[in-house]
Amino acid sequence: MIVKLLLLFACSRCVLTGPPNIGGIFYADDIDSKIALEVSAEKFNFTALTIEVSRRGAILEISENVCQLAEEGVIGFIDGTGGRATEHAQAICDGLELPLIVLQHNDLYSRNWSLINLYPSPLAFNMAVQELVKKYNWNNFTVLYERGHSMVKVQDLLKLSNPIELDAVSVRELRGDNYREVLINAKHSGYTNFVVDCSSNKLELVLRQAQQVGLMADGHSYIFLSPDLFSLDLTRYRYGGVNMTGFRLMDLGDVMLYNYTAQFNEASGYAIEPDNVKTKIVLIHDAVMVFANALSKVRYLRRREIEPAQLNCEYYQSWVYGSTLIDFMKTDKINGLTRSLIFDGFGQRTDVFFDIVELTPAGNQTIGKWENNKLEISRQFVSNAEIAEETIMRNKTFKVLISTTPPYGYVKESPLQLEGNDRYEGFTIDLIDKIADKLGFSYEFEVEPDYGSFNQDTKKWSGMVLKLREEKADFAICDFTITAERQSGIDFSTPFMSLGIGILYKEPSKQPPEMFSFMAVFSKEVWYYMVLVQSALGVIMIFVGRISHKEWQNPVPCIEQPEELTNQFSFANSVWLIIGSVMQQGSEIAPIALAPRIITSAWWFFTMVIVASYVGTLVAFLTVEKNVLPFSNVVELYEHKSISYGAKSKGSTKQFFKDSTNPVYQKMYQKMYSKEWLVPDNDVGVDLVEKTNYALFMESTSIEYTIERHCDLLQVGGLLDSKSYGIGMKKGSPYRFFINDALIQLKETGEIQKLKDLWWKEKRGGGKCGKKQDQEQKQLGMKNMLGAFVVLGVGCCIGLLISTLDMLWGVFKRSVKYNTTFKYELIEELKFALKFSGDIKPVKRPQRALGSAEALAEQEGKDEVKSLKSIRSGRSTDTHRTHHSHSSRHSSSGLSVAFARRREYT
Ligand code: GLU
Repeated sequence: MIVKLLLLFACSRCVLTGPPNIGGIFYADDIDSKIALEVSAEKFNFTALTIEVSRRGAILEISENVCQLAEEGVIGFIDGTGGRATEHAQAICDGLELPLIVLQHNDLYSRNWSLINLYPSPLAFNMAVQELVKKYNWNNFTVLYERGHSMVKVQDLLKLSNPIELDAVSVRELRGDNYREVLINAKHSGYTNFVVDCSSNKLELVLRQAQQVGLMADGHSYIFLSPDLFSLDLTRYRYGGVNMTGFRLMDLGDVMLYNYTAQFNEASGYAIEPDNVKTKIVLIHDAVMVFANALSKVRYLRRREIEPAQLNCEYYQSWVYGSTLIDFMKTDKINGLTRSLIFDGFGQRTDVFFDIVELTPAGNQTIGKWENNKLEISRQFVSNAEIAEETIMRNKTFKVLISTTPPYGYVKESPLQLEGNDRYEGFTIDLIDKIADKLGFSYEFEVEPDYGSFNQDTKKWSGMVLKLREEKADFAICDFTITAERQSGIDFSTPFMSLGIGILYKEPSKQPPEMFSFMAVFSKEVWYYMVLVQSALGVIMIFVGRISHKEWQNPVPCIEQPEELTNQFSFANSVWLIIGSVMQQGSEIAPIALAPRIITSAWWFFTMVIVASYVGTLVAFLTVEKNVLPFSNVVELYEHKSISYGAKSKGSTKQFFKDSTNPVYQKMYQKMYSKEWLVPDNDVGVDLVEKTNYALFMESTSIEYTIERHCDLLQVGGLLDSKSYGIGMKKGSPYRFFINDALIQLKETGEIQKLKDLWWKEKRGGGKCGKKQDQEQKQLGMKNMLGAFVVLGVGCCIGLLISTLDMLWGVFKRSVKYNTTFKYELIEELKFALKFSGDIKPVKRPQRALGSAEALAEQEGKDEVKSLKSIRSGRSTDTHRTHHSHSSRHSSSGLSVAFARRREYT
């Protein structure tokens, strides 16, 4: 036992090699905090040793793990759990004389000397809220606090309800995860002002549920105590009219914050902006910073390296430098990411400084600050346009890389000797000028023709990318395509223009019209429908003709009571009538009844429209010569052996072909490369396209620009990909956020489009080609002719309806006349009509009233005689052709007699 004690004693004085260890206590699922500790430890030259505790068994696990780390040797602990378990860690650290930094406020923490609380005192927030309530002139408000979360902040607020200050302050507790009921009650009570005191991880839930119950609209005001409010994406609440005020601990103007965010992003794989980083992540950085600063002070004081000792909890060992370190931590004033880090004798943070931030339709706006226990409101509201004032770019001068690629950048043509930025003009020159105006910075141009790429062999970057990486320039603005490769080396702003790769080629030669070009006037479907409509119309005409009784005419007008009637609407006659009108020749067939007349009129109208459209368009088809392109897409270009093609040799277009997995593109790249078809810049390429049989792969925006000025060139086919241009800057640039903001505003106000129109269509020879005449013949499709078809259809329907009514009336009359049933007559009529054959119809005779066989026989005999007489007189229907009928042939006498006898239709 004594030996063991001696050994441990000896060990407690051991000097460990390597960066000193710093302990972290976090919940197992709090991965971000662990990463933050690792990133910060690396920055300040520590080794992070992390204790992971589960949320349930934290108390038991913590004592065990703290002792274990103490045995490994640490200079102190950072506790990110913030729960009851912290008390245990605190007791152990007290015994070991190891500093413990906590990151959350908790009234349960005893104020013993080993503990330092980096979370600002709630007192400061309380005072700030009181001041804000007064500034906003709230007469009443509701405090929404989370169960289990500190109430201390709220207690002071309640004092505000003392007689003179406020009419009423009410308090409501937010329990569990469903706050809707509480919020609905608050709403029904008519409250519109709220002070919300909840933990950072519940913020989003509270906001969402408040919005769901309608408490996030015009007239509602909130003050949030959690400094993490503005790390959330509040876009969805921005335009609803709600007023939200909160606090921000970190200094957004501090470049250190941007660097830390970039390191944190790199380690975590996130892509968060500095203003979206959670307060806890920033506090971890500041905690490590406090350790690092105090340690360097102790080193300086002791004039030697200070290393942690291996301590054993069981033997009540303590670290000799612990108390000195804690003293330095409490007394030394340093500035961290959350500004001044000053503590009182109890390790509580004093002199808290934070921003007062308001959510406005223009985004998050800093409206004031809390400093030296005083609230200073500098501005009530900042409009969109003034957003720039918030930036850290004001009054700085940046080096901006440009390229002299038209229309993005030109060297100015001037008789004077121009100097500096004045030497250049163009789209991107104007764009950066507008951004600089908004953000208040100045710039200096440097021309760099190579946009930059990564050389896989030398593992080196080139061009603009290299210069940005080496911080030889701050921004690159040109037709700078955002590619995955470049993005691995630098950051890009939000895109300001979208494009894709297209093919630039010269206008093809004209070809004379084809032999059957007259057929091309109508699209195929129109021809098909016309044939179909004609056939259908033929059938309709026959049917309608057969059921319209007026169409059944006496073939021999001099016989008053003819045996049979004839109908002109035979198949041949109907087709003749239809064709005659299509051909504009007419026919001798003339409908007599109303229904066939309506249908015929509809058909004539239809033919009039069709013929007029055909004739009107035919000329174009017979005279206009067609442009025949030798290829219409990239594959056809590849297969076309006699056309050479290429792209800019140092650009993303070439890179697209080089990196493509598409075998055609791969082969094309090999050909371009081996045959030296690549061009140094687009101007050379355009020249080749104009003068030789060459196709240039170019970005669509540049193609647009080129064909505005080179009227003999055009874009062939669609785009091969889709991408955008952005402003390049070094990785983790602190300015990206502001540049993005300015770009979005310029896009929203249409400024970028205006600039594009100016440099593409107006300046430097724009608009030369005017609007290209659309020589293409416009084929008439169903879309154009549909109206005529509809009119015809409606005409046919009306005709069918009328003829049906006509038939029904006739059937009714006959059923009365012959004393038969309506149904019987109707079936007979339809049977006859639907046979579609025979254009002769025997005439029915009324049945004698007496009904005797003799009378009938007598009548039938007379009928027969009449019929025979008519035959004899040479007017038999057998041979007779009325001027309407062309094809009827019927054996009249025998049949007519038989029909009359049976009173039936054949
Ligand atoms: N915009 C391209 C780039 O960023 C240059 C032009 C091209 O490759 O077509 O590299």
